[in-house]
Amino acid sequence: MVSYKLALRKKGQETTKIKVGNAVFGENLVIIAGPCAVESEQQYLDSAKQAKEAGADILRGGAFKPRTSPYSFQGVGEGGLKIIKKARETLSIPAVTECTDAPQVDIIMEHADIIQIGARNSRNYELLRQVGKKTAKNKFPVLLKRGDSSTMEEFLNSAEYILKEGNPNVILCLRGIRTFESQMRNTPDVGAIPWLKKETHLPVIFDPSHSSGTSEFIAELCFAAVAAGADGLIIESHCNPEKALCDGQQSLKKERLKQVIDKAGEIKRAISLLPPQHF
Ligand code: PEP
Ligand code: MN
Repeated sequence: MVSYKLALRKKGQETTKIKVGNAVFGENLVIIAGPCAVESEQQYLDSAKQAKEAGADILRGGAFKPRTSPYSFQGVGEGGLKIIKKARETLSIPAVTECTDAPQVDIIMEHADIIQIGARNSRNYELLRQVGKKTAKNKFPVLLKRGDSSTMEEFLNSAEYILKEGNPNVILCLRGIRTFESQMRNTPDVGAIPWLKKETHLPVIFDPSHSSGTSEFIAELCFAAVAAGADGLIIESHCNPEKALCDGQQSLKKERLKQVIDKAGEIKRAISLLPPQHF
């Protein structure tokens, strides 16, 4: 018997549907796009507008950035949340942003529509417990990324920490894992999609940007993920990737983003003709 009893898909159990704005995770292919980080009001508003015009359902962008080096750009902090709120209200589109510490939860819930727990914090069990507790009352959606060295069992147990506190609205996100291979930033874990879709009722989305670390392969990885059954994609995009303070090399410009989103939708429609065996 597995320990993640709430995340486990029981026989015949439907995929959990999580409605955010007009998008429904677990029902439609949900596209999240936007820059890695909020850098300034102009940069975020321009990038957000372009992401929406390209077809994104939800915006992304971090105000609090968990960076590997303490000397890298650390995010603009709380002021970034106000910028995200302005973008989502001006453009009428929801937004997801990362929480790196439990005291941020309340203010994030006032400024965004989904709380992200990043790969680095996905095994910070106290944070997961606190996020679960603070979001349980309004069942505020949580997007949980897989740790870069988490097994799928560990990943589902991380989700279980949030579910156990009473919030059923957890979206799982694959973002590549660390292996012996070093040609890409991470090893894209698209193969985990059908396994997770069978094992859990939670929606599963894929992040091609952090998986590969390069904008060059985002299209192919998005198509592979959708063909493998992903419920959504989270793609980094930027109004001026060359000038980005964070992850510009793995961010798409508007034109390419639109092409990727359009083709991903076609693939989703094509595979819906042959539903997975376990449904
Ligand atoms: C991010 O989405 O901005 C991010 C930091 O990703 P990850 O946690 O997957 O590294
Ligand atoms: Mn990033």
